[in-house]
Amino acid sequence: MSHAPRPPSRPEGRTDLPPQPADLLGDGLLACTHCGLCLAACPTHAVTKAEAESPRGRLFLMRAVAEGRAEAEAVAPAVESCLGCRACEPACPSGVPYHDALAAFRARRPPSPTRRRLLAVVASPLRLRLFGTLLRFLVRTRLARLAQRLGPRRWRRAAATLPRHVFPFRPRPGTRFPAEGERRGTVHLHLGCIHPELLGEDLVDTVKVLTREGWEVVAPKQPSCCGALHAHAGRSAEGAALAAETLDALGGGDAVVSAAAGCAAHLHEHDPRAGVEELFAFLARRGLRAPLGPTPAGRVVHAPPCHLRFVLGDDHATDAVLARIPGLHVERPETMPSCCGAGGSAFLEHPELAADVGAAGRDAGGGGAPHIVVAGNPGCLLQWTAVHGADPDVAVVHPVRVLRRAQDAADEAAAGGRSAAEEA
Ligand code: SF4
Ligand code: SF4
Repeated sequence: MSHAPRPPSRPEGRTDLPPQPADLLGDGLLACTHCGLCLAACPTHAVTKAEAESPRGRLFLMRAVAEGRAEAEAVAPAVESCLGCRACEPACPSGVPYHDALAAFRARRPPSPTRRRLLAVVASPLRLRLFGTLLRFLVRTRLARLAQRLGPRRWRRAAATLPRHVFPFRPRPGTRFPAEGERRGTVHLHLGCIHPELLGEDLVDTVKVLTREGWEVVAPKQPSCCGALHAHAGRSAEGAALAAETLDALGGGDAVVSAAAGCAAHLHEHDPRAGVEELFAFLARRGLRAPLGPTPAGRVVHAPPCHLRFVLGDDHATDAVLARIPGLHVERPETMPSCCGAGGSAFLEHPELAADVGAAGRDAGGGGAPHIVVAGNPGCLLQWTAVHGADPDVAVVHPVRVLRRAQDAADEAAAGGRSAAEEA
């Protein structure tokens, strides 16, 4: 038991402030018994083998700061290299609320310049639009590839995450995409920030899949960011405000669906009653009714986003839906790390660590053997794109793109059958 004096957790008499780091001593950090059962789940500990870069080590360091025995700046490098994947939480028998402690720690420190810039961009529709335009210009003119080869080290890594094909999808607010066949209800679609700017084809395919399944899809006017990145960075109040604004904008339909697992998890945690569902969890729960045909992809490696696994617990829905595609073999390698290494903005701030974690995932997935890596979150898609680099044998896509191809294949087979019958 510690005998160090505890700093007051809140200014005297104030009960209206959010929990401060010292509050976590009572019901958070002190709950850690140092058993070490979380170590095997931690992707950063797996590659560095450093106790300080394990959940137990980071909790120890955060507690030292909260008790006044260490300076936050001194322990920051080890604590801040955490990916925030939360794989340590379900592994912990003591129920240590690790992410609350991390958020409280991060809230004490000013965000890094990279993190500050990223948060400023995603929270502003205008800045986000300009940023998306710039990135698309860099990709289409191949300047991004040039930066990847010749730029400074930090640029090389950032440029490597950019997809080869970029496609914006920002439908006019309130646009309705009608259901095909008998209408099952209305889905309000969450668009997100980076997803519609760089990976808009995922959202086009999301709309196509849902409408073929009989859902009318509406894209209401919504904030450019749901606040997930803010919460990840320890800016809890801003993360909560953006989540509330997003949920207000998305209400009123029969369901709210997001094709980005990280956003779905953040919105769900902000208000579970709002019923936000990750796309494949939604499809699995409601059941598929559109026919699926065989796709050219034989082998698919599913790398589920960490927040889909450890916050929503819905990762098997993607496997179950993809398993319905005739001839498709979906794998979940046992040795796949808990996180791809993206970790919010961690892949920009700790590029070497992110690359090492990603490389472990690449090796778990079978290296260069021809296959498709599917991950239902834009940050993960960018990270896996960097990890697999120029490997022509590996394609990195959102799982909805595979599902859309299977729907197309069934439609084409049906159309072929009809024209053959007509000719006969
Ligand atoms: S959140 Fe992830 S990276 Fe951070 S300590 Fe837990 S398991 Fe490790
Ligand atoms: S499993 Fe839980 S109690 Fe054990 S060391 Fe990790 S955080 Fe602490």
